[in-house]
Amino acid sequence: TFKRPTNQELLLQEILQEALDLPLSGESANYIPALASINPNQCGIALANLDGEVHVAGDADVPFSIQSVSKIFGLVMAMLRMGDDLWRRVRMEPSGHAFNSIVQLEWEHGIPRNPFINAGAIVVADTLVSHYSASKSALMSFVRGLADNQDIHVNQDIFQSEKMHGSRNAALAYLMKSFANIDADVNDALDHYFYQCSIDMSCRDVARSLGFLANRGVQPHSGDQICSRRDAHRLNAILQTSGMYDQSGEFAFEVGLPAKSGVGGGIVAVVPNYGVICAWSPRLNQYGNSCLGMYMITRLAKKLGLSVY
Ligand code: GLN
Repeated sequence: TFKRPTNQELLLQEILQEALDLPLSGESANYIPALASINPNQCGIALANLDGEVHVAGDADVPFSIQSVSKIFGLVMAMLRMGDDLWRRVRMEPSGHAFNSIVQLEWEHGIPRNPFINAGAIVVADTLVSHYSASKSALMSFVRGLADNQDIHVNQDIFQSEKMHGSRNAALAYLMKSFANIDADVNDALDHYFYQCSIDMSCRDVARSLGFLANRGVQPHSGDQICSRRDAHRLNAILQTSGMYDQSGEFAFEVGLPAKSGVGGGIVAVVPNYGVICAWSPRLNQYGNSCLGMYMITRLAKKLGLSVY
């Protein structure tokens, strides 16, 4: 039977079409072959509302490599497990440097600026490896539970590629180990980090899984308290200041929503007390953020007046 699109779905379709009509710009990530070979012209968007409904347009049900968007899942797990001790190992300041920069880490004695640059996410991975007997399966059951989708899996091609081209992340990890800010074996921390980056999810999955960030820690579709209201506040604050790499300031300026991007072309934006938007398209701008993803989220936020400011 034909389902009449809701107004929100029509709006998403309109914005998706505008994005597809733009002149092509950007290139997909090519630091690993497994990402370079993905069709760069795919484009999708999902909006998960707090009432549990999800509106979608385009390729919103195609699983893609979530890459750095996964840093949110790792961080939530570490915050739950470590409490305030975590903030002795990683700070909550924007970095002003590229996500894989190494110089600042030396100056600051192996304490990463925030959990969303690679060094910070590797510290987070280290705490998970140290606190769980099987951190990778704990991560997967956490993510599958949040998205309410048992089919979510790790892309083994991407995982192997990440490990083979991981020298820079290894350098970050060894530097931090030299400052005693990695407890586990460096290889185990890196293995968890690469695994986490290699999760495939669709826009629908990502938007649904992070509803609790828009709802004071309570997952809208299950009613489960995932984290405290205070932690939801803190996560949104770090997303706002550090989630969009070196374009975080501009994103706050133009859009005004806590958000996280990944080099797979995904962007998730939290709209407190409203819902979660996830957009995906592989071509990236100079900062490593999805060109069409940025366009669609910016348009949607403007049209619906979603800025938190
Ligand atoms: N796997 C990538 C890396 O570690 C993730 C980076 C990203 O999405 N910013 O370099």
